[in-house]
Amino acid sequence: MAQSAAPIPRNLETTSTPAGRAAAGVPRILVIYTGGTIGMVSDPKTGALVPFDFDHLVENVPKLSRLGYDIVNARFDAPIDSSNMDPAHWAKIVRAIAGSYDDFDGFVVLHGTDTMAYTASALSFMLEGLAKPVILTGSQLPIDEIREDGTENLITALQIAAAKDGDGGPVVREVAISFGSALVRGNRSTKASSTEFGAFRSFNYPLLGTMNLHIRFDRESLWRPAGNQRLHPQTDMAAGIETIALHPGITEASLTHQLACPGAKAFVLRTYGAGNAPTKSRLVGALAAAVRRGLVIVNVTQCPNGGVDETRYATGDALAEAGVISGRDITAEAAIAKLMYLFGKGLSPAEVEEAMGRSLVGEMTVPA
Ligand code: ASP
Repeated sequence: MAQSAAPIPRNLETTSTPAGRAAAGVPRILVIYTGGTIGMVSDPKTGALVPFDFDHLVENVPKLSRLGYDIVNARFDAPIDSSNMDPAHWAKIVRAIAGSYDDFDGFVVLHGTDTMAYTASALSFMLEGLAKPVILTGSQLPIDEIREDGTENLITALQIAAAKDGDGGPVVREVAISFGSALVRGNRSTKASSTEFGAFRSFNYPLLGTMNLHIRFDRESLWRPAGNQRLHPQTDMAAGIETIALHPGITEASLTHQLACPGAKAFVLRTYGAGNAPTKSRLVGALAAAVRRGLVIVNVTQCPNGGVDETRYATGDALAEAGVISGRDITAEAAIAKLMYLFGKGLSPAEVEEAMGRSLVGEMTVPA
């Protein structure tokens, strides 16, 4: 491992030092370690899991050298629990990938599972024109424990990042999460279990691949970027994107208060079933008034599977009448990231609404 002449991204604080020059044809993979359970150890005082440093992670996976890849390690200066992940961290990952894009065949991002679906969604929008694999993985148990899932997840992610098609191009040309036996499109992913080794699900889109005895890709489902696109990284993600979850008993006062959040640009409204909300005129009126004030409100169902079909019930129709736009079958994670990205590009609310109705990078099913 680490037989490389590839440059190390300058925006990440510490990296391992590569030695020598890689042989031609050997896959070159950049591994970016952000933190998360995969590299955590128990604090001897409290027993709680705390992030440890990346060198420790490599020490724990001697099998990596048997892959025969040219691997460069980069890491955040201070590894974080992914609950602390924010758009500034996403920008850091994007800069690291964009800054060394031409020098690597693929990228593996080691990340905590808690917010991995948000990061995967965000990267899928921020890495505009991506045509190489960006594979996120992590683990449910720390890699230094006797029984753990981190070793397999790391090695499998590297193999997926290195996988080539018959034409010599990468099999995966998008942001994906490789975890347990599932390869999931990043912007379709949801963390569905805090205990199972198969932590991630894609409720509304087929798996991109399965990793059991063999790694099998579903070529029909993989994203194929159009033509000879160049990477156009976007690092500005807008603030002011909020979420409101409906629940029986929600009051007009609560809704109005949330909609008046200072600096808010858009809301993801977590509705019921096929995109339904209470039809009490004051609740719908509060949403309509917010839309008139220029806020973008996107209807995303609380059901993990299925999507919004607001014409199915009068309760959904009322939202559409109020100017709430349909998020169809998008995940809440992807809707939030997409709104941050679109407003981050400086689009007007009308332009954002238009773009929210289209699938940009396979995040949503839009009927033909
Ligand atoms: N709290 C951890 C994190 O998201 C959980 C994990 O990695 O699985 O960083």
